[in-house]
Amino acid sequence: MKIVLLGAPGAGKGYISDYLVKEYNFLHISTGNILRQNIKDKTVLGQLANGFMSKGELVPDEVICQMLEQFLKNVKNDKVIFDGFPRTLSQAQKLKQFANIDKVILVEVPNDIIIQRISNRRVCSTCGTIYVNGKHKGDCTKCGGKVILRDDDKTEVICNRLKIFEQQTKPLISYYKDILEVVDNSGSEQNTKIQINKILNF
Ligand code: AMP
Repeated sequence: MKIVLLGAPGAGKGYISDYLVKEYNFLHISTGNILRQNIKDKTVLGQLANGFMSKGELVPDEVICQMLEQFLKNVKNDKVIFDGFPRTLSQAQKLKQFANIDKVILVEVPNDIIIQRISNRRVCSTCGTIYVNGKHKGDCTKCGGKVILRDDDKTEVICNRLKIFEQQTKPLISYYKDILEVVDNSGSEQNTKIQINKILNF
């Protein structure tokens, strides 16, 4: 089964992916994580991507699609979550050539809650673990890495990311209408898990 998670930045795609990985053994493919790893490793791709990411803009379609195509060459898993890809119609058309998508889950949360959640979000700069309540002190409890506020989670950048979601990613809702399911992630974690299990018949 191959799933695409669609949703605004901060809607909880990462949290839902973590749940599906832990409970059901999905492979989590996050284009944002792959790009951040490239930035950390100072690759050519990372340097190129950083210019777009730090402003909250999308990395160009050709760059992202080539990166994903390359990544998928080594993937043998049947159960895959695409988190943060596709983000444009052109990416969705490209994805169709690499993979058969069974379901698209649109993760919905009102924008005011998103802004509040993102400004409280911290992330481990080494392993990517997300800390959601803003009260986390000290290093990452999983790997000891430094826990930071992502550059693109700063308030001025979040507004641009939300605008880009509206303009460039929302058209995917009608593109995928035949296989689209909606999850309301504005309530409790438990409530979200129940909705996910129902959608996936788990
Ligand atoms: P994310 O971690 O998914 O929120 O992604 C962080 C940033 O990486 C985005 O704001 C974009 O700048 C870039 N990015 C991630 N995935 C894509 C994609 N599919 N297309 C273009 N840019 C992307």
